[in-house]
Amino acid sequence: SDRITGIKSALRVIPNFPKPGIMFQDITTLLLDPKAFKDTIDLFVERYKHEHISVIAGIEARGFIFGPSIALAIGAKFVPLRKPKKLPGEVISEKYTLEYGSDCLEMHVGAVESGDRALIVDDLIATGGTLCAAMNLLERAGAEVVECACVIEVPELKGRERLRSHGKPLYVLVE
Ligand code: 5GP
Repeated sequence: SDRITGIKSALRVIPNFPKPGIMFQDITTLLLDPKAFKDTIDLFVERYKHEHISVIAGIEARGFIFGPSIALAIGAKFVPLRKPKKLPGEVISEKYTLEYGSDCLEMHVGAVESGDRALIVDDLIATGGTLCAAMNLLERAGAEVVECACVIEVPELKGRERLRSHGKPLYVLVE
């Protein structure tokens, strides 16, 4: 569609960031284009407004840019999934492995409850490791993960298949 084309052209790629050989997909130029930014939020809102989503879980840091606007528009609560030692209250943690080394996401105890219907939001899916950790956190807290939603998918890294092995669909705006 026109909106997807506009979103695509508002993104940019920065070669060799943060390391040589990496083609970094930069969403900050999308944020500079109010039409493309609004279209991004609207496309997610149109997809999820009638799905009885009760919680949007946003992944630090760029899931915090898109998640809250979607949450406000569909009347869901927003829950930040953060890197270790950032959340002040009691947390549950989920470690996950990266290409080199490991990382961890944390969520406040009590932020979601059993029966919550969750949408997980991030800017980009690569290997899917981050979204799988997020799904584990939400499911451990008793929520039902309805779907994961990202602005960008890097299909070569097969994140979609990793999510499917978790039994969860992925929705993205651009590849
Ligand atoms: P994954 O766990 O799927 O391998 O990596 C996805 C995570 O890494 C997301 O939280 C995403 O923000 C970040 N990430 C990895 N590569 C890029 C990139 O090229 N651009 C952006 N914006 N984020 C990236």
